[in-house]
Amino acid sequence: MSLSFVSSFVYLRVLRGYPGFLFNHKGHEVTRSIFVCGLMLCGLSVTGHAQARPLPGPDMQQIYQRLLPQIEKIPIFDHHAHPGFFDDPDVDAMAAPPGSAALRERDTNPELVAAARALFAYPYNDLSPEHAKWLVQKKAELKKAQGQAYFSNILDKLNIERGVANRAMMADYLDPKRFPWVFFADSFMWPFNNERERSRNSDEQVYIPLQEKMLHRWMQQEAVSKLPSDFAGYLAFVSRTLEENQKKGGIAMKFEVAYFRPTKFSDPTREEAEDVYQRFIAGGIPSEQEYRTFQDYIFRFLMREGGRLHLPVHIHSAVGIGDYFSLTQGNIMNLENILRDPRYSNTIFVMIHGGYPYEREAIWLAAAKNVYMDSSLMEIWMYPSEFKNSLKQWLETFPDKITFGSDSFPYNETLGTEESYWLGVQSSRTALAAALAEMISEGEVSEAQALQMAHGYLHDNAVGIYEGKAH
Ligand SMILES: [Zn+2]
Repeated sequence: MSLSFVSSFVYLRVLRGYPGFLFNHKGHEVTRSIFVCGLMLCGLSVTGHAQARPLPGPDMQQIYQRLLPQIEKIPIFDHHAHPGFFDDPDVDAMAAPPGSAALRERDTNPELVAAARALFAYPYNDLSPEHAKWLVQKKAELKKAQGQAYFSNILDKLNIERGVANRAMMADYLDPKRFPWVFFADSFMWPFNNERERSRNSDEQVYIPLQEKMLHRWMQQEAVSKLPSDFAGYLAFVSRTLEENQKKGGIAMKFEVAYFRPTKFSDPTREEAEDVYQRFIAGGIPSEQEYRTFQDYIFRFLMREGGRLHLPVHIHSAVGIGDYFSLTQGNIMNLENILRDPRYSNTIFVMIHGGYPYEREAIWLAAAKNVYMDSSLMEIWMYPSEFKNSLKQWLETFPDKITFGSDSFPYNETLGTEESYWLGVQSSRTALAAALAEMISEGEVSEAQALQMAHGYLHDNAVGIYEGKAH
């Protein structure tokens, strides 16, 4: 990389109003020019050494050992998780039907013992039902003693400053100062008779009724006993719900639409969507094509609202659980027409789970100034040795557009949110230290630049998105 290439590249991006690193959570021009100078100096220091090498040198292990403790000291902003107790139905707007779990996700994973030992001083070396009782008992005692501080204390143990709570509704046992809420917005796309939608397969039989339930809860919240008979009234109800959720502390809206239908959205007119609404809101089953036309319009309406309200849009973009998840129909690349649509250039998109297993292609979507990639789930579905490679490719491409998430979830009474936070955090910190150690040893970045990237990925990039609201 030559200096002139670095400078003209940065200059071009500034001309185009590229935000990325340039946004801190106040996001102003001043920071921008300081940053440009900084990068130009960095460019000098990189080019001052030698050409990047394809293999790390013998110093890599030492660099890793030096980086890891510094990375552990960086307070984390966890961009995506589902904190809660295992018997709390509001931890998600959908449920997990029985499906096949990848190797590391099975409850035979010995790392979960390490998690319980680290968090609760678990005294055993396995999670046999007999021993697991100790853990359940220990957690119950701590919950009773600590109340609302219980989950905040878990964050403290792991040096997580704040952890997004992507939940159907917030829980009174989560401190909103530590757990900013991300609510679900899919249900606005399923207001009609869903008999055919439900009967597609046994996964949808579980998912679709939960979407109906979510829509009903929004109706209750807005004191709407029956959906409006006119389309304008329906859109106003949707907007009101978003505004109300934002007032209640919601920092973003989340879609897990890939579980329910293909993520390729066409561009119907308002008249086309209105026609479907008026014919089916009072009853009857729309054809598949009619339903999709309506949904495509509503999805795009919600994208626009995300821009108007400065409410970032989080979208599940990876392979999913269940028996019938379609990798083809849920492929992150299906969303390219939305992410690159200039009509939504004011909407911030966060691609939750980074498009895994298409994360290597997906990072190029983050070339758009308003698109970010979140690595939650990737670091627990892959082992650190492999996640390190994905993260390295991201760091080498758009390091200022990637964010950390744990996707922690209460899997059951023994393996809860607590243990999955630990696994996500440990995996990401070690993989991050390893990826950066390679990059330093291979002559790609300086140690100072590497640490700046680590701060960006674990904290600053995500916090910058919310412009102070989440910090
Ligand atoms: Zn999730």
